[in-house]
Formats: sequence, C-alpha cells, structure tokens
Amino acid sequence: MPKRAATALADVVSLARRRGFAYPSGEVYGATRAAWDLGPLGVELRDNLRRQWWRAVVHGRDDVVGLDASIILPPATWVASGHEDGFADPLTECRSCRQRFRVDHLRDGETGDDDGRPADLVSAVCPSCGTRGAWTEPRRFSGLLTTHVGAAEGDEGEGGRHHLRPEAAQGVFLNLANVVTTSRSKPPFGIAQVATCFRNEITPGDFLFRTREFEQMSLAWFVKPGEGPRWHTYWLEERTRWYVDLGIDPDDLRHHEHPRPGPGEHTTHTVDIDFRFGLPGSEWGALEGVTDRADHDLRAHAEASGRDLSFFDQAAGERWLPHVVEPAAGLSRAVMAFLVAAHATDEAPNTKGGVDQRTVLRLDPRLAPVKAAVLPLSRNAELSPRARALATELRASWPVEFDDAGAIGKRYRRQDEIGTPYCVTVDFETLDDEAVTVRERDTMQQTRVPLAGVADLLAQKLRGC
Ligand code: ATP
Repeated sequence: MPKRAATALADVVSLARRRGFAYPSGEVYGATRAAWDLGPLGVELRDNLRRQWWRAVVHGRDDVVGLDASIILPPATWVASGHEDGFADPLTECRSCRQRFRVDHLRDGETGDDDGRPADLVSAVCPSCGTRGAWTEPRRFSGLLTTHVGAAEGDEGEGGRHHLRPEAAQGVFLNLANVVTTSRSKPPFGIAQVATCFRNEITPGDFLFRTREFEQMSLAWFVKPGEGPRWHTYWLEERTRWYVDLGIDPDDLRHHEHPRPGPGEHTTHTVDIDFRFGLPGSEWGALEGVTDRADHDLRAHAEASGRDLSFFDQAAGERWLPHVVEPAAGLSRAVMAFLVAAHATDEAPNTKGGVDQRTVLRLDPRLAPVKAAVLPLSRNAELSPRARALATELRASWPVEFDDAGAIGKRYRRQDEIGTPYCVTVDFETLDDEAVTVRERDTMQQTRVPLAGVADLLAQKLRGC
C-alpha cells in the first residue's frame, strides 16, 4: 500500500497552478505539460532552495568554491566525456497505442515491482494503454539536445553543431586548472555549480519531475586516488541530512543503488537519494545522484585536449589525477519534492465557532516564498495605512505581503496555502495599544506583540532565512 496517495500529487499540482508556483509552459498555445514555467511563488521557492544548497555546500565550508560555466561548451567536451556516443536511452514503442517509453522506466505487469529495476519487456505493461508485452525492439535514442551555432553560410552543418549541456559537471572539469590556480585549492576540495541542463527526454512528465530543461545543483569534489569510496559515503550522508534539515521526513527518503550505468556509461558507483514522490506507477523517484566518477572525466579531457590536468601533491612529492565524487541534485525536482512534503490538510477554527478544513504548506521558513503577511482586520481608513506602513518596514528584510481584500479568515487560508509562516494582524485595538497579533502558521497560535517589536521578533524567528 503506497504511503502517499496518488491524489496527493494531483492536489499539489492543482495548488501549484492555482496559487502561482508553476504553470504549464506555453499554455496559450496549448501547453503539453512537458515543460513548466515557474510563477511568482515558484521562483521564490526555487531561489530559496538554491540559496540553502549554496549555503550548505559553498558558504558554510572553507573547501568549496563556486563556478558558472557556459551552457554551450566546445563539442569536443561531449566526445571526450562519452556523452556523444553513450548518453542514450533504450527506446521502445507500444505496438497497441504507439506511445514511446524508456525501457528502463517500464515496470513489471505481474509484480508491479517498484524497486527501480527495469522490467523484462515481455512482462512490461504499457503505462498508457495497459497492453502487456506488445513492445517494438528497443533502439537507442540520444538524450542530447543539439543546436546550431554561427550565422554564416554553411555554419548550419556539422561545424556549427553544438550540444546544450546535459549535466553540470563537465563545465567544472574544463575549468579545474583555472580554479586550482586562482583559488589555490588543494584536494580534497570542491567546485559547485547550479546549472540549467537539457535532456531530450523520451517521456517528460509528472509535473516538474522530468522536463527537457531543468536545473541541477552539482558539486564536483576532487580527492586523492583511492579516497573516492570514503568521500562517497560522506557526501551521501551530508546530502541526505540536508533534505531532512529542511523538512523532509526521513521515512520519505531512501538510498538506492543505481541499477544501470549513468551518463556516458562510465559511472563507477552511484547511489540515488530517492524521495517518496507518489508518482503514478512508481512511488519513489530520485532527487539526487551521488556518484563516484573516479578519474574517468579528467583522464578523458586530459587525453583529448593534451592539457595536463594532474595535481602536484607537494606533501607527498608526487603527481596524480584527482578522482571525483559528485553529488548532483535536481533543483526543479527538489522544488516539487518540498511542495509534496509540505502539503497537508487539517482543521482551523472559523468565525462561526466551528471548524473549516484548511490546506497548509508546512514549508520550512527558510524555503517559504513569503515570510510574513500583514493583514488589517478589515479594509479600513485607519487600519490599512498602519498595516501598509508595517509591511513596508518589514520588506526591508524579507518578502512580505500586504492583503486587505475580503474576510480575514479567507486571507489566513490563502497564506496557509502558500506556506507563509507568520501572519501579522492589525486590528482596532492596535489603534489604542500599539500592539498587533502574530499568528503562527502550523500551530495557529496567536500572540500579542508591540507593533514596534514585530521586526525584532521576526528577525529571531526567521534566523537563517
Ligand atoms: P534518470 O535516470 O531519472 O533519467 P539520472 O539518474 O540520469 O536521471 P542524473 O544524471 O544522476 O540523473 O542527474 C542528477 C539529478 O538531476 C537527478 O537525480 C534529478 O534530480 C535531476 N534530473 C535529471 N534529469 C532530469 C530531468 N529530465 N528533469 C528534472 N530533473 C532531472
């Protein structure tokens, strides 16, 4: 029995659209749902997640620096890395409904196995029409998206053919020597990058889970040969802790050994950090892959470019090519995971003495798109300006909403639904006692606080935001 009901995901997608976290891309032209645009709240949540990752991986340590490499790299990059030949998925087509799927994404029709292992094609059931075992012979389908660079006649040919990066790490490898020289880094050390990546996915879908354009947060961690396995364990634990610290229930996470070779088929060891997304057909989905890439990439780039990418170890008096451990997390997938994890329903008292069902996003305040809402009890010539002035004061430090439209209960519900941790209500008593009510999202507890002390109180409560 899956722990997360399939309807939970549908509810999250519906909330995301309704409240402005994400919209199907190109909706006016009949969107396909294969791509999503982030709305006003979605960009805030995404940026907050990215900032938390950067804090944990770069600013919170003294052994990692950042980088931002180009999306379009020299074509030789992808030949050397193995992507040009190896970054392909086996594609099969259902003979009954003509839908195409990745062979490794099909699940066993009898056992309904959700252990991440691909099913035998004979027993695999079409996720679209339900027909069993009616598959065409698998063929390879390149995952690389290609563009043509250059305006001159003839540039459209092979000479101008470039790939859009399918992963963040290669841009880091090409810059290793530059970074080592300029930042005086020595292994063990890392280079972090948040990168928009492109993959020609056969079956994009499931909201932000699989799109052709997505963002990856990748750390390339360079170590002495032989130290990869130890650091792989270290980063798997560190990265898992990061999700838990930001509010994901450890029961909704698992470690999962990669069943197949990764990009370029050179992966030595990958363990995925899976989250219980509750996807139709598969309860679990990967959030992040932690891979021991050994020296494959650096060796390939050194050979192909003729540049020495080895590191001189002064202490040992020897020269070696670093090995790489790479935790690579999907930022867009993380946006979806944190929405799913935070989504809850409970009951809230209403003004008639009864209770209403409420939907609440229990986002960690560090991730919440709006940190506080200032709400006058009602739209009023005296209350609204006081509330507006408070909102303006608080905006110097955080994203803060002001809202005086409609019943107060409804305005609380809206803030609960978008995950705002604190609502500050200015009421008629405020005019006498210069105090306001601060309501906490999860407990709905209300505390009376001097107006002049609201900024200090929020500064305490929102530490780290
Ligand atoms: P899959 O097998 O699901 O296609 P992968 O295991 O090849 O993906 P990696 O190359 O390890 O993925 O990428 C690291 C992370 O990047 C993934 O764990 C995921 O969070 C994210 N990612 C990869 N492909 C996509 C995509 N098409 N859309 C959104 N996120 C993605």
